Amino acid sequence: MARILYVPFDHLNFDFGVLKGADPASDVIAMVESQRMVTGRPWHKERLFFLIASARHFAAEARRRGFEVHYIQASSTIEGLKQIATNLVAESTFHCAEPSSFRQYQQLKDFGVEFVENDFFMTTRKHFFMWAERQKTFVMENFYRAQRVRLGVLVNGSDPEGGRWNYDSENRLPPPKNYVWPPYLLHERDVIDAEVAAELNFEPSKTWATTRAGALAQLDNFITNHLQSFGPYEDAIAEDNWALHHSLLSPYLNNGLLNAREVVEAAVVAYESGAIAIQSVEAFIRQIIGWREYIHGMYWFLGESYREQNQLSANRQLLPLFTDSSKTRMNCVRSVVSDIETRAWAHHIPRLMVLSNLALTTGVNPQEFLDWMRENFVDANEWVMVPNIIGMATHADGGTLMTKPYAAGGAYLNRMTQHCKGCAYDPKKRIGDDACPFTTLYWDFLDRHKDLFAKNHRMSQQIAGLNRLGDLHEVRARAASVINGLEQGII
Ligand SMILES: Cc1cc2nc3c(=O)[nH]c(=O)nc-3n(C[C@H](O)[C@H](O)[C@H](O)COP(=O)(O)OP(=O)(O)OC[C@H]3O[C@@H](n4cnc5c(N)ncnc54)[C@H](O)[C@@H]3O)c2cc1C
Repeated sequence: MARILYVPFDHLNFDFGVLKGADPASDVIAMVESQRMVTGRPWHKERLFFLIASARHFAAEARRRGFEVHYIQASSTIEGLKQIATNLVAESTFHCAEPSSFRQYQQLKDFGVEFVENDFFMTTRKHFFMWAERQKTFVMENFYRAQRVRLGVLVNGSDPEGGRWNYDSENRLPPPKNYVWPPYLLHERDVIDAEVAAELNFEPSKTWATTRAGALAQLDNFITNHLQSFGPYEDAIAEDNWALHHSLLSPYLNNGLLNAREVVEAAVVAYESGAIAIQSVEAFIRQIIGWREYIHGMYWFLGESYREQNQLSANRQLLPLFTDSSKTRMNCVRSVVSDIETRAWAHHIPRLMVLSNLALTTGVNPQEFLDWMRENFVDANEWVMVPNIIGMATHADGGTLMTKPYAAGGAYLNRMTQHCKGCAYDPKKRIGDDACPFTTLYWDFLDRHKDLFAKNHRMSQQIAGLNRLGDLHEVRARAASVINGLEQGII
């Protein structure tokens, strides 16, 4: 009896998931381009292009390898699978690697799909649960150190390579001046890409590769040209470069074209050759075996209802500047949103300290913000967006993931970006027409939630700072007019 191997668009790999050990002589591949996926939301076209073109290239490669591939367009995934089942003469069962969202898991389970373990991550869900169930608080650093030892990455026995687990204190440099950034790859388009672009009526940028070969070239370019300086500037936001030394690998890690193990191995091999500083390789490895695995594990551990949390009762509608960069005069926000309009990507700090900081301090509804992020980022999968937004970005979980909210005023942005010079707003001011909205909103946010935050010892310094302010009335008044201006798209 034939096995039908269903390959979702985030499992595009022949060596992992359901295709591991698959045989063209006995196995058939099923892939579904669901209309719900394409038209169900106002998706960024760069994102749609990346996902669909990658899947069609993958299907073509599977045929080259001798597989019978049923790649169809249907109104939904389940409708597509039903059609494929009808087209196949032999009685068959669908198999799939465990899907990466609660919703898809349930739908496929209800349809009778049989699952194999999802090995697109280096930590199984079972293993993560074993770690999480033993914790009083879910501190990522504790998970990460245990991962280093368990996986044998950058350790000598149970001691950290280089003598320290963490080089964060060296890795917070502001953007450098007069710096020559190494080039990033441009990915040339082929016939399949052109076909998808035409169907979407869209001219994609050349930022994202849509094949395994392109993803590997991206990995190689990162290791050769960027890893050495990844650490020091990982938190900086530059005016003259949109990617800095970030790897740009998240889309491929998330759709399966790259596997985390090979990315980690490439970084470790480069370090062992003597070419890479420990502070950079450690910082990068932390992102992959630490943050990425932690966020994935927490998505499953926290359960489906976690997505709906809103413990700060934030109910403001999404601000217009998120969907149109011309709707703000704040240099940093305009620049980040405009980058997203172009490439559907921004690195971690613009996501956290610009976009999320603004959503948090203005009290934008976390679910609305989550939907907007899901629709607009090339690497946005449900498992990764939910904990990052509900936990890290908007503190909507009341501190389950992060012990304190990531709120910051203009001083932080002035230190870590080059956008304040020439901006209409002054980061040092919290009141007045030219006060930086971030500075005003930061104090106003603390003020609105001071009773709650007073119970959090990690917030005591901030609350003490708030209590010292002599102009709180004016701050509140300025905050009200900033929020009004942001809602009208004129601040
Ligand atoms: C509000 C918010 C939303 C985010 N949404 C996503 C998302 O939808 N998809 C996504 O892949 N990442 C997300 N991240 C994490 C991180 O911002 C991106 O992974 C990173 O910017 C991708 O660019 P890069 O590949 O150049 O990353 P690098 O800076 O080069 O880091 C290497 C890799 O580490 C992993 N990583 C680092 N931090 C995280 C994290 N917090 N969660 C999961 N993986 C991490 C990614 O796989 C990334 O490719 C989000 C972070 C925040 C604060």
